[in-house]
Amino acid sequence: MGAGLAGLVAAESLLDAGNWPSGRRPEVILVEADSRAGGVVETIRRDGWLIERSADNFLAARPEGMALVDRLGLRDELISVHEPARRALVFRAGRTLPVPTGFRLLAPGATAGIEATEILSAAGKSRLLAERNVPPKLLAAGESGDESLESFALRRLGREAFDRLVQPLVAGIWTADPARLSMAAACPEFLAMEQAHGSLSAGEEARLREVGPSHRGEGARYGQFVTLASGMGTLPERLAERIEAAGASRLRAVVSALERLPSGGWRVVLVPRPGGAGAIEADGVVVALPAPIAARVVAAADDPLAAELARIEYAGSAVVVLGYARQQVTHPLDAAGVVVPRVEGRRALAVSFSSAKFSGRAPDGHVLLRVFLGGALDPERNLLDDDQLVALAREELAAIVGASGPPRLVEIARWPAAMPQYHLGHLKIIDRITHRLDALPGLALAGAAYEGVGIPQVIASGQAAAARVMASLRAPR
Ligand SMILES: Cc1cc2nc3c(=O)[nH]c(=O)nc-3n(C[C@H](O)[C@H](O)[C@H](O)COP(=O)(O)OP(=O)(O)OC[C@H]3O[C@@H](n4cnc5c(N)ncnc54)[C@H](O)[C@@H]3O)c2cc1C
Repeated sequence: MGAGLAGLVAAESLLDAGNWPSGRRPEVILVEADSRAGGVVETIRRDGWLIERSADNFLAARPEGMALVDRLGLRDELISVHEPARRALVFRAGRTLPVPTGFRLLAPGATAGIEATEILSAAGKSRLLAERNVPPKLLAAGESGDESLESFALRRLGREAFDRLVQPLVAGIWTADPARLSMAAACPEFLAMEQAHGSLSAGEEARLREVGPSHRGEGARYGQFVTLASGMGTLPERLAERIEAAGASRLRAVVSALERLPSGGWRVVLVPRPGGAGAIEADGVVVALPAPIAARVVAAADDPLAAELARIEYAGSAVVVLGYARQQVTHPLDAAGVVVPRVEGRRALAVSFSSAKFSGRAPDGHVLLRVFLGGALDPERNLLDDDQLVALAREELAAIVGASGPPRLVEIARWPAAMPQYHLGHLKIIDRITHRLDALPGLALAGAAYEGVGIPQVIASGQAAAARVMASLRAPR
């Protein structure tokens, strides 16, 4: 259920003949509410512009995204962030200033970079540099040590580094409330670093020694983000073609409920459609729907599972994509984009310089900018009408990158409740979900709600869900 990336990948794995004894490949039906496969991942190609409505790249350092690109024969299409754009800027009092060299999301990195930055005051820099001397949190044996991002960053890095660096950088990724975002679920690497090395400064130094000089600095990190020349939408488009060619059928229908049959199989109940069957019976089911919808769907089959799924909250955002002639924008656009700290009191969370990041995003002599609005701390932003939203994005671009005059291209992507929030307690919810699923053979969950929102993790979740269903189909009932 659900032909987002997670559902498509699950179908692909289920159809892979290598996973089955000969002649036993299952019949796979993909039920999707929309006419289009891909869920949130969608590219619009229009008049020389290439517009990403949501994800515009993925991390190549994890294997799952790259492996999918290879299976789809898209390796030649891979492009990475342009060398000159391999850095991020932070907005401060009308200026856009580079993130200190070596600073990685929460890890201070190089002292020189922090000393040189104009993003922090002298007091903020001294406090950040003193991170090395802040004792690690003492944990009792077996204690997870989870805490919110805000509490962790304030404790280790101080208020100013939190407000001016961590909050905007993380908001750009998770659109989350930092007072509720779980370190253990969202940024486990930094929790572990504190415990293993005593401080993030020491941990980052140790990491850099291990990865070697070529991986140092922000540029190297940005080089790990890749996309496809024809846009991220090509991934689900090609994948949908591939699985249909392999024999899957796609049914356009809205799933309303899942029921367990006395035989141990499953009944997928569909919202009535003219001329269509009202239900499908199946031996195994992958639910690759956003968690709140999955909660409603599985309620009839297992109420405690539904209750856990309903605990996973979502935040919405809106991406307003505006295209301009180059001379309409005064900023040099010499970065991947700019993040805006909440303490600046502006309304944009971030602006991505799409045409500076990747080639082929705007016609010659033009630039494409994506303005991110909304997020967990500003939910009403989504409710503005289209004209108000565009006016707001234009005001933000005027203030942040000096854009003037009417945009040549306007595209609005609204994502109400599209981003799962890994709040404090998220890992416990996942444990309880896993435990409930143990009693429900043939049922699996996949998608961004559980163990990572990034595209490689979502791909991994689809594969794991398919493996779970295949294991229970192979086991004697
Ligand atoms: C604005 C934005 C920017 C992002 N940027 C990046 C990025 O740059 N890099 C990155 O790695 N990740 C990014 N992400 C995250 C990543 O894109 C998502 O986590 C991932 O695509 C989610 O895939 P999914 O299959 O779990 O869910 P979805 O894509 O939400 O798929 C769920 C599917 O279920 C269908 N559905 C819903 N209800 C029903 C029903 N009742 N019956 C049948 N079908 C139903 C929906 O139509 C949809 O197709 C971004 C996300 C957003 C929102």
